[in-house]
Amino acid sequence: MMKCNLCGSEKQSVFDCVESFGYALIYYQCERCGLVFQSAEQSQAGDPTFYAETYRKIYQNSEMPTPKDLWVQEKRAAHLVMLVRKVLPESPKRLLDIGASTGTLLAAFQKAFGSQGVGVEPGDAYRAHAESRGLAMVGSLEQLFEQKPERFDLVSLIHVMEHLPEPVETLRRIRKELLSPDGLLLVEVPNFYAHDSYELAHLSCFTPHTLKTVLSQAGFDIKGVLRHGKPRSALLNLYITAFARPLPEGSLPPALTPERHVQRKRKMGLFYRRVVQKVLPHRAWLPLPEETGVRD
Ligand SMILES: [Zn+2]
Repeated sequence: MMKCNLCGSEKQSVFDCVESFGYALIYYQCERCGLVFQSAEQSQAGDPTFYAETYRKIYQNSEMPTPKDLWVQEKRAAHLVMLVRKVLPESPKRLLDIGASTGTLLAAFQKAFGSQGVGVEPGDAYRAHAESRGLAMVGSLEQLFEQKPERFDLVSLIHVMEHLPEPVETLRRIRKELLSPDGLLLVEVPNFYAHDSYELAHLSCFTPHTLKTVLSQAGFDIKGVLRHGKPRSALLNLYITAFARPLPEGSLPPALTPERHVQRKRKMGLFYRRVVQKVLPHRAWLPLPEETGVRD
């Protein structure tokens, strides 16, 4: 029986069928909460070995980061440093970046805040690259849980949540075992109402509504949600960035509010995107050092 990645409901209908990197994908919509998702069991991306080996090869035809990838990571890191500075009165002392890739964000945070951090990255080549920069890395979240590390003041998951088979459960565990009680959680995901979102490895397609639902169901108090295009677009709100604080242990999550009219909002969002791309192409997509097919 197939279950919704957000609320666990077993009732869903087919939302869209697409192809990504030669694989046929089916996206379902949960009839209870409104999330658009792929079944983790059906998808290649639900297989734990997928990220260690296959993912980067399929996406970039290489096991090593491309110049385009590094450029996006650096610009994104600068934006996130700026946002965290605005939100936090003082510098976080211990940092954790989950899905750290080559360590660009972790290195930027360490430099900006004068702090020490740990990165989690399952991709072997990316993790090795980060280690070669002198960053402390582990290969999986499971490994980090086992190490029972001292709590972190800032935990970031940047373009990670859309890949997780059980995002609520993962965030709940992060809150209980890794984040300090007065720490800050920082997440960023593609925005389903502006970003293509359909990709082999994207199990969930988040909207501002469903992202907030995931955070609140996992026991977080949402402090801010920002829609923006940085660093890829000056006009399209391709991404959603959210800040949240852990609720005290024992707090009950609020009742789940379903999202309605997702199909209509998606159509309107993509219509706006087509218009903007046509009328203002150089503002819709800012130039990259090296164009590839992937827009993430
Ligand atoms: Zn659901």
